[in-house]
Parts: sequence; structure tokens; C-alpha cells
Amino acid sequence: MDLLIDWHRHAKRQGPGGDEQTRLALALAGAELSSVRCVADIGCGTGASTRVLAEELDADIYAVDALKPFCATLKQRLGPATFRGRVHPLTASMTALPFAEGAFDLIWSEGAIYNMGFEAGIAAWRSLLRPGGILAVSEITWLTHSRPAELEAFWNEEYAEMATASVKIGILESNGYAVRGYFPLPRSCWLDNYYGPMEARRAAFLERHGHSAGAQALVAAETEEVEMYEKYGDLYGYGFYVASRV
Ligand code: SAH
Repeated sequence: MDLLIDWHRHAKRQGPGGDEQTRLALALAGAELSSVRCVADIGCGTGASTRVLAEELDADIYAVDALKPFCATLKQRLGPATFRGRVHPLTASMTALPFAEGAFDLIWSEGAIYNMGFEAGIAAWRSLLRPGGILAVSEITWLTHSRPAELEAFWNEEYAEMATASVKIGILESNGYAVRGYFPLPRSCWLDNYYGPMEARRAAFLERHGHSAGAQALVAAETEEVEMYEKYGDLYGYGFYVASRV
């Protein structure tokens, strides 16, 4: 875990995404944005999306992550003065969030809900939204039904809930959400914003850990994932799903 934290905590983001795409998802949320006062950014990492939300919204934002060092980096980066103390970093698990029912107008989560599973996450977080409140989550998504066995086996091992957008949208609908929109993240969100910077950190990371077996194993696993994306990245991606609590 220490290695994983060290690998990621110096990064701007810990998963595929982009500031422009965070803004696009906000735009899909619609007219109510001006009345949003209380937001949770769940699995916020070092706060890439938190910063955009703080720039765009006049709201209190609870930035939640299970890992304290990520919350500490977020605090440093955003700085209390930057957003008038309206960003509140909090170390907590997404499976046991310390908030009251209906507390939020908007729940945000980029590249993190898979940690508890998409359906368990959207079902559990619904009660934290006020009626009509908005949920915006990004989730790894198949873009097609025709997939080579090698790719299918790789992702089934990593995340068995991976599915196409129509399946994810159906899950939202059967859990009491009305879908406002979906879009797939462009390849640049993976390659330029996530994998590229990750590869640039590799040599210094291995150096810091004296090329230990653990550090090498972590790098090898990440490299396998990048190679899979380079080979098959037109068959899967990250989907952004925006929905409201019915
Ligand atoms: N949203 C960020 C980080 C995505 S990586 C970004 O887009 O850059 C996934 C994040 O989920 C990590 O920061 C990880 O620490 C966090 N996480 C994993 N399990 C968690 C849990 N059970 N509760 C809260 N956060 C968790």
C-alpha cells in the first residue's frame, strides 16, 4: 500500500479524466447547478476534479478519500485560501460515509466507484442525495460487444462489473435515477492525462525504492494495463454518467 501511495500521490490525477470532461459532465447536470450548495467528491484522490468543482460552483465541497496522504496532497494543492475554505478534505471510506441522508445536492466521483462496485455505490449513495439531486460518476465501460478473449480475461480479472453503457444506464434506472447524459472520455484522458505522466514518474519511483521487487511488480502491473489500452483502447474506455435522484 505504501508503494501504491508513493506511486500515485505525486500525480495530478489517479485515473483517466480531464478538466474539460469534468466541466462537460457539470454542463450535463443542467440548470440546477446554480442552486447547488453541498457537494461530495468521493474517491477524490489528490483532487483534480475537486479543483474544477470548486472553480465552477459556489458550494461546500466534501472531498473524501480513503487514503490520508492523498487528502494531504489535495489540501496542499488547493490551499484553504484558494477556495475560501469551502473545500473540506476528509479521510473516510466510500462504503461508510459519515453524512446525513439527503445531505447533498450533487455527488461526484471520478474513476473511483469501482472500488465498491458501480451498483453497490450508486445504490448506497442515493440516500445521501436530496430528491432531484445529481449524481455524476465515471466508470470503466465496454464500448462494443465484440471483444478478444485476451482483453475480456484481463478486465474480468480486474473488475467483473465492467459492462457497456446501456447496461450501466439500466442499472441507474433500476436504482431510482433518471439519466441526464452519458459520454465516453476521449483517449487523451487516458494517454495524455493519466498513463503518460505515470510513465514519466516510473524511473524516479524505481530509484526511490532501490528497484525493490515490490516496486518492480507494481510498475510491471501498471505497464501491462497501459499496453492493454494501447492495443485495445478503442474497445473500452471510461464513461461519464450523469443522473438525478428520482
Ligand atoms: N478521483 C480521482 C482518483 C481516482 S483513483 C481522480 O480521478 O484522479 C481512485 C481513488 O479512490 C483513489 O484515490 C483511492 O484512494 C480511492 N479509494 C479507493 N478505495 C476507497 C474507499 N473504499 N473509500 C474511499 N476512497 C477510496
